[in-house]
Amino acid sequence: MKIYVARVLFPVTALGPGKRAGIWFTGCDRHCPECISPELWNMNYGRETEPEELARFMETHMKNIEGFSISGGEPFYQSEGLKLLLEHLIKINRDIIIFTGYTAEELQKSGDPAVRDIMDMASLIVAGPYVPEQNNGMGLRGSSNQEFLIRGHQYQKDELEHYKRKLQLFSYGNQYIEIGIP
Ligand code: SF4
Repeated sequence: MKIYVARVLFPVTALGPGKRAGIWFTGCDRHCPECISPELWNMNYGRETEPEELARFMETHMKNIEGFSISGGEPFYQSEGLKLLLEHLIKINRDIIIFTGYTAEELQKSGDPAVRDIMDMASLIVAGPYVPEQNNGMGLRGSSNQEFLIRGHQYQKDELEHYKRKLQLFSYGNQYIEIGIP
């Protein structure tokens, strides 16, 4: 199965603890106001790849991955492909954070079996749309309405709420990209 991914970066230190591999899925139909990556709404903006191929690439070229941070776009927009990717990633490192615009309730009530499987494999899901008026500058989330769905032992709510934000600059292709939670 094909997935569409805009970029893969390492070592990412601004989207969770440790040196992480960051993966940006493309495709999103939520159109939150002041979205920081509207170019990723279009799934075709991403490069086509296979989940297994992408996992193998990261394992080969990114040494000592301490976790994965998956963002977008909207990662759940490609739920089946995301599920397949996670099945490979957990063999490399089980610490997987997913940032999604869906609310916790929407995910929990989803009738999509892939969503349930993803929730079982992730260690943390930061869930909910970005609301600029509720950006308090703190924590591993863009705005305080977003919920922490803690699925693994690695994370505690208090630490997540007080996570010190930072931005990180990457050179990618012929451009510079700033990543992190603004
Ligand atoms: S869900 Fe994420 S990518 Fe989609 S519009 Fe909202 S902030 Fe942007």
